[in-house]
Amino acid sequence: MRAIICGAGIAGLSLAWWLDRDGWDVLLIERTSGLRDEGYMIDFLSSGYDVAELMGLIPRLKEIHYPIPELIYVDRSGRRIASLDYELFYRLQKGRVFNFMRGDLERVLFEELPESVEVRFGLTLDEAKQAQEYVDVLLSNGEHERADLLVGADGIHSRVRKLVFGEERQFLRPLGFHTAAYIIENEELRRDLGGEFRLLSCQIARSAYIRSVTGRSLPSSFIAHQTRRCPHLTVSSSIRSTETSPGSCPLHSGTAGTTQRFTTIWLHRLRCLSGVREEWRS
Ligand SMILES: Cc1cc2nc3c(=O)[nH]c(=O)nc-3n(C[C@H](O)[C@H](O)[C@H](O)COP(=O)(O)OP(=O)(O)OC[C@H]3O[C@@H](n4cnc5c(N)ncnc54)[C@H](O)[C@@H]3O)c2cc1C
Repeated sequence: MRAIICGAGIAGLSLAWWLDRDGWDVLLIERTSGLRDEGYMIDFLSSGYDVAELMGLIPRLKEIHYPIPELIYVDRSGRRIASLDYELFYRLQKGRVFNFMRGDLERVLFEELPESVEVRFGLTLDEAKQAQEYVDVLLSNGEHERADLLVGADGIHSRVRKLVFGEERQFLRPLGFHTAAYIIENEELRRDLGGEFRLLSCQIARSAYIRSVTGRSLPSSFIAHQTRRCPHLTVSSSIRSTETSPGSCPLHSGTAGTTQRFTTIWLHRLRCLSGVREEWRS
């Protein structure tokens, strides 16, 4: 059996590994000219960890893991107002959690691919035609390929989905969050941060994280902003309900008991998340 996977991101590389292991002949095509190292730090746990374990990747992931000593809550002037021992988070996950840069995970997955998987960079799909028994694709370099299975692993604005099922606006369901992630090229900021992981947040719907990465020269940042409530986001809703009512931000309402309050909120978040995960599983 032959598969063409469009997109050599996290999903595409992982699937290529599994299909190859099951005896498939796999062609992986990726639009960019090489692996991408953009992105930010990921909390890697739960089903991602389980799959990595099945793939025998844990020793490799240990090598790219950046341990985080603590999460530091800061106010708008950057002053430390509370902190959370990250060891607690690791312990709650029974050690089954890693923190690494997305690009490092992509590199590990790529390096673990067997040679039998053919990877072609700098290519995309121009056409996909489905027949009863196979699918014919036209690549952007003019070549034709035929396969038993075509997989769209080309991310949120999937070209495969558009070619096969139509315009993406029929399928996109905005969840009310805007996010932005970037690397900050500022040496002074890097020195100031040291190895710290800082968070400015009034509630989960409005937060900005910044952390430096040991061994890397630049800090990475992630900002989330919720623009409206969304009924599909049960995780967000349940987390929000544990936090303060609008207008009373825990970070600005005095310091007494702040750490304890945040620990409680954090533990509650974890419980909410693991609860939802079980729901998804069933
Ligand atoms: C550069 C980048 C950085 C990211 N950083 C983070 C992060 O730090 N933390 C985090 O949690 N999530 C990050 N994400 C999102 C996260 O990777 C995805 O949400 C998650 O991994 C889903 O994986 P995926 O393989 O389905 O899609 P993606 O990871 O988005 O991968 C899709 C792949 O398909 C390729 N592609 C897209 N269009 C085409 C096309 N037309 N033809 C061929 N190839 C195509 C892309 O170049 C990419 O390599 C990032 C995504 C990208 C692309």
